[in-house]
Amino acid sequence: MSRSTTTVEPGRPVRLDEFDPAGDGAAGKKSALAETRDNVKVLADLGYRLYAEHRRALLLVLQGMDTAGKDGTIRKVMQGFNPQSCRVSSFKVPTPEELDHDFLWRIHKQVPRRGEVGIFNRSHYEDVVIVRVHGLVPEQEWRLRYDHINDFERLLTEAGTTVVKIFLHISKDEQRKRLQARLDNPSKRWKFNRRDLDERKLWDDYQQAYQDAITRTNLGHAPWHIVPADRKWHRNLIVSRILRNTLEQMDPRFPPPAEDLDGLVVE
Ligand code: AMP
Ligand code: MG
Repeated sequence: MSRSTTTVEPGRPVRLDEFDPAGDGAAGKKSALAETRDNVKVLADLGYRLYAEHRRALLLVLQGMDTAGKDGTIRKVMQGFNPQSCRVSSFKVPTPEELDHDFLWRIHKQVPRRGEVGIFNRSHYEDVVIVRVHGLVPEQEWRLRYDHINDFERLLTEAGTTVVKIFLHISKDEQRKRLQARLDNPSKRWKFNRRDLDERKLWDDYQQAYQDAITRTNLGHAPWHIVPADRKWHRNLIVSRILRNTLEQMDPRFPPPAEDLDGLVVE
């Protein structure tokens, strides 16, 4: 069975194999590219209003297996946002200082300020995914993290940050092709990391860890979207749509002027 929507009802267990990574919506590449361009333009305007309004923030969490397209999505979909009001945070292996704190310490420091769009390229979800797959902390410790994550995201939401979480869903075969392309293409080789081949062997463990993490943290106020990501143009379309819908619902407004400025003329 394959599902056409990208969301899962809160409380319902998520089965990743119910979502087709190669889904393309059947509308065709040409119309997808046109709609994406349109969405990116609208996003620029909405982001500008959010910045001017300076009351709320948007946080987009991007997760996915290696090569799922997190960087490409940021490059293609976020390009309309003003660099002054959009911030990308990429979370790598924690530093010794970060490891000496609770797992949310480094994350909380990077959340968007009022008016900003924040993009997390990896996130606190690594702390229940790679950490679980490699047993980096004891199970009784990472199991508690789902509740901590839910509490944390509720705090952000209640403080005025809309949280949207996206899992870029690729197939194992598409990952093989993309890793091979990184080896074969000189302009992609810089991205190749031998460790990715070892991680690939743990594919099923990762899928399981993601499935559980998404199930446990798929809240009404901070929903997960599972985006088919084998076709880049379709992935970009769906991510741009999700962001556009989210920002349109937030409906940011220019703030009213502090005083009546009608009729004032600059000499
Ligand atoms: P990349 O996104 O390709 O630059 O790789 C970053 C690497 O850092 C990935 O292998 C992540 O799984 C890893 N990473 C990110 N956060 C954590 C974390 N909290 N614990 C362990 N590894 C992490
Ligand atoms: Mg990598």
